[in-house]
Amino acid sequence: MNWLTNFVRPKLRALVNRKETPENLWLKCPKCEQMLFMRDWEANQEVCTHCGHHMRIRPLKRLPHLFDEGKYELHPLPKVPADPLKFRDTERYDARLKKAQAKAEGTTDALVVASGLMGNRMTVIAALDFGFMGGSMGTAVGEGLVMAAELAVARKAPLIVFSASGGARMQEGILSLMQLTRTTIAVRKVKGAGLPYIVVLTDPTTGGVSASFAMLGDIHLAEPDAIIGFAGPRVIQDTIRQELPEGFQRSEYLLEHGMVDAVVHRHKLRETLMRMVTLLMDPLVVA
Ligand SMILES: [Zn+2]
Repeated sequence: MNWLTNFVRPKLRALVNRKETPENLWLKCPKCEQMLFMRDWEANQEVCTHCGHHMRIRPLKRLPHLFDEGKYELHPLPKVPADPLKFRDTERYDARLKKAQAKAEGTTDALVVASGLMGNRMTVIAALDFGFMGGSMGTAVGEGLVMAAELAVARKAPLIVFSASGGARMQEGILSLMQLTRTTIAVRKVKGAGLPYIVVLTDPTTGGVSASFAMLGDIHLAEPDAIIGFAGPRVIQDTIRQELPEGFQRSEYLLEHGMVDAVVHRHKLRETLMRMVTLLMDPLVVA
């Protein structure tokens, strides 16, 4: 009896409880529906190893692949009033915000601002985080973009923006719409200083972000098959009551129609961006 309870039972329990296969070891590609081994997928910068589908990657996973030796400095976003309108829908906005902040990495809102060397040149990168309340733009994102632009000017660095957004932060009402002009002015500061401003459009770039700083780049690159537009295709289809063409509002369609300069695979972004920046800043070196 003792031998069974004291020795066999704990052993059995340990066997049963052993978590050798965590649930998140595999994931399914939403495009080709093949199973992907998490580690391979992460090593592949969250691009499907079967079909090349680019999944939405969070800024902190992306940044190490862009800066030299993966080294960069994060810049905390400026403090803004947390819930200026005391907004409430099914949940209080400040509670919703706190929940998103608890899950966020390296930031307190939907924008990550980082600086570091890229191709041995000081570069500022501002990346929107779709995982943070759909990458929506409120005062914090607006302030963050202004800060990134000022940082680029102070350091005589190019500014590169990775856009991914569902639009304006509805819970901040008119204040979120004001960020369209603020970010536009911020971008003008960078251009006024004669520094390159490059936008990499990633899935999805819609709403207020696409109506402001995401469409004002000197150069627009896009990741393959990303949704890029102001209103979603369903809304447009219902409004104009017409069938939309195949691939409407996707990167490749926009490239064909002159809205995007190049569609670039995630693995090629670092070298493409370095080449573009050199072209804009030291054209003689490239020639
Ligand atoms: Zn796939």
